[in-house]
Amino acid sequence: MCSVNEEGAEVFEVLKPIEPLELKCRKCLIEDGNVVLQKKFVYCKTCFVPMVTHKFRATVGKSKLVNRGERVLVCVSGSQSSVSLLHMIWTGLQQSTYKRLTFEPVVLYIDESVLHDYPLDQVKKIKELFEKYGLTYHIVKFSAAVYLDNCLNKDTNVDQYNDKLQNIFNNLSDLTLKEDMLMKLRKRAITKLADLLKCTRIMTAENEHKLSIRLLSNVALGRGSQISLDIGLAVNNKNNNNTSLVTIRPMRNLSAKEISYYALFNKLDDFMHSNFLTATSEDESIQKTTERFVNDLQVDFPSTVSTIFRTGEKISEKTSAIAYCLLCQGIMEVNVSPSSAMEATKYSKYVSLMGVKALKLSLKELKNEETNEKNCNGCKCRNKQDLKEKIIESLCYACTHIIQELESLDDLPEEILNKEKERLQFKKMEEQIKDFLL
Ligand SMILES: [Zn+2]
Ligand SMILES: [Zn+2]
Repeated sequence: MCSVNEEGAEVFEVLKPIEPLELKCRKCLIEDGNVVLQKKFVYCKTCFVPMVTHKFRATVGKSKLVNRGERVLVCVSGSQSSVSLLHMIWTGLQQSTYKRLTFEPVVLYIDESVLHDYPLDQVKKIKELFEKYGLTYHIVKFSAAVYLDNCLNKDTNVDQYNDKLQNIFNNLSDLTLKEDMLMKLRKRAITKLADLLKCTRIMTAENEHKLSIRLLSNVALGRGSQISLDIGLAVNNKNNNNTSLVTIRPMRNLSAKEISYYALFNKLDDFMHSNFLTATSEDESIQKTTERFVNDLQVDFPSTVSTIFRTGEKISEKTSAIAYCLLCQGIMEVNVSPSSAMEATKYSKYVSLMGVKALKLSLKELKNEETNEKNCNGCKCRNKQDLKEKIIESLCYACTHIIQELESLDDLPEEILNKEKERLQFKKMEEQIKDFLL
């Protein structure tokens, strides 16, 4: 930020370091302050909790997203944010008639202990918490949710699926891709469970801070076109053309600090919730580097997160999209122009791989060249290689990187492979009859 000009400097909120803090709550002006937000706004506990709850209610109530009696899948990961979301919903259900939340929550915890080392009694404690609230709940193993259609059946042996899932992540050496894949598989699992549990709305607990980091990481990962799908207030999950399934993020207007104070004042315990980036160095993945970038800026400029977030909100999804990615269900760029950023990236990849030879060939010739080189003629692995080449055609730019790293596609969920085979079949049929088409 060395070249910030006078105009630019005004955009950021610069605080005088010696500005004395008011000691009284800025809302009631009577009580002593307990919380300081954005380095200058002081609130007492009595005013703070209703204010946070109000922000949550306002987000849920906005545009009448949830109808009376509608089944809503509330995803609880055990993080502070998700535990607070559960508490806010429960409180909302206890209120007097006109203020009461009227939807029917179905609480979901996906047990990811197959991938991360969680304390052995974590599931038991989560169960105790859910029992305490007295809401309908389900605890499902991650591998069952990814691979099985009847994942709600607790008696199924999931050992072989645990191996499959671990295989996928062991194959991915890059932390960036591992985390990206985890996010996408999680999303698939949640969508599937919402369908099974007959829920038409999904609530997840990402806060403003998390969504800002996700927004910037998405751009860096090449998922720019999917931003509104990943951070929006309400987005349709484009699964099997079922557009009625909507994801809502009711904590999106709350900062991480507001949530921690809410949890503290309501004595809410959170649980261990890991991902592949937990306890890794900041230089090892795009997501962690982005997180550090945002956090560092936030220290000096408390409006950083909300500025990123509000800017991101203005980005809307292309309505003319005709293809969706097989893995992440995000929008796919089809028929991109040869001068697009994506084609340019591909071209520079070829140049760095093939050297001077690449400069003499056109992009199309380069693609053929690459396919020829990869095919080991006559060998048994040909078919599998073929499927991998084909499946890439149905993936978005970012998901292509994940699939390319996988040694074999056998560990992917069956439904992805089946859908791809179906598409190939359809394409073959189209080829055969194309001369008869008008
Ligand atoms: Zn007050
Ligand atoms: Zn994708």
